[in-house]
Amino acid sequence: MSVLVYIENVEGTFKKSAFEAVSYAKAVADLAGQDIIALSIGQVEESELNKIGTYGVSNVVTVNTDQLGQFVNQAYASVIAEVAKSKNASTVILSNTFSGKGLAPRIAAKLSAALGAAATALPTVDGNKWQIKRTVFSSKAIATEELSADKRVISLSPNAFEVKENPVSVSVENFQPNVAGSDLSTVIKDIVRATDKVSLPEAEIVVSAGRGLKGPENWGMVEELAEILGAATACSKPVSDAGWRPHSEHVGQTGIAVSPNLYIAIGISGAIQHLAGVSASKTIVVINKDPEAPFFKVADYGIVGDAFEVIPQLIEAFKAYKN
Ligand code: FAD
Repeated sequence: MSVLVYIENVEGTFKKSAFEAVSYAKAVADLAGQDIIALSIGQVEESELNKIGTYGVSNVVTVNTDQLGQFVNQAYASVIAEVAKSKNASTVILSNTFSGKGLAPRIAAKLSAALGAAATALPTVDGNKWQIKRTVFSSKAIATEELSADKRVISLSPNAFEVKENPVSVSVENFQPNVAGSDLSTVIKDIVRATDKVSLPEAEIVVSAGRGLKGPENWGMVEELAEILGAATACSKPVSDAGWRPHSEHVGQTGIAVSPNLYIAIGISGAIQHLAGVSASKTIVVINKDPEAPFFKVADYGIVGDAFEVIPQLIEAFKAYKN
């Protein structure tokens, strides 16, 4: 029996969330007393593959065929399930990224496995009864779910598990999959990158602003702060409804749910619908000129002040710190 961890890459580079999945899978394999195997699909340089060894995994399987050059959900799910069967893996682990959300249920169906989606902590392992924890009801509660099956697929929430270094040397095995034509019925013709910015759902730091910023012309300082911190930018719903920012930045109950290590909220009141999407953040910093703003109740750190004075000072302070 083994644990198979799928490591997602973007244009040949592994994401941080992929290394979190590797560290998590290594810990799961140790808990279950099983071997661990990492799987990479697509063109990835040897130097990049070697990075997997940093997190304690030496057996790496690569699948690199022309058919799988672009991410196609059905085809990737089939290949991951095929490798899992071939390597006698009873547990498949992957990151709960945009791709992972599409892959996990497909792999589970192909393996007749139980699915534990968006896990936030290590499972408890008791024979074939595993339990995972995940946040529910907009992060207001933690659910414990039992996975009672011989096989299981677990997707790990980004930023939920810290990477752990435990360097070993890597041995790479090339795997030749049987990709069915029906799995390739979707053909990616072209990929147009909408932005080079940090991806919001997986960002470690998010700088978010609301109606307190008064208008779209004032977002330059938000973007500058985000760039210095290597952060993604986000906004409240009214801001995207007004067209000040794109809808892809809207966080909350009706927008994207984020779980960064640091969420900086500027000029956002902290309505319950906004908090629903951000309360899983590890540390929340609120900047608001109204000391009674509800956001302060859930803040780890608060600055009562005018954003137009506070943000420029923060930018200068971070610049000075970096130099
Ligand atoms: P406001 O409520 O107008 O708050 C602006 C804040 O900026 C105030 O606290 C003010 O003190 C502060 N401020 C003003 N000037 C400054 C300054 N110079 N410096 C510092 N602070 C300043 N909202 C979401 O965000 N996400 C959602 O997903 C979402 N879903 C919703 C779903 C439903 C069904 C409903 C009914 C509402 C939803 N909302 C959502 C809207 C939500 O209820 C709030 O109206 C919204 O979050 C308020 O946005 P805001 O904080 O940017 O604006």
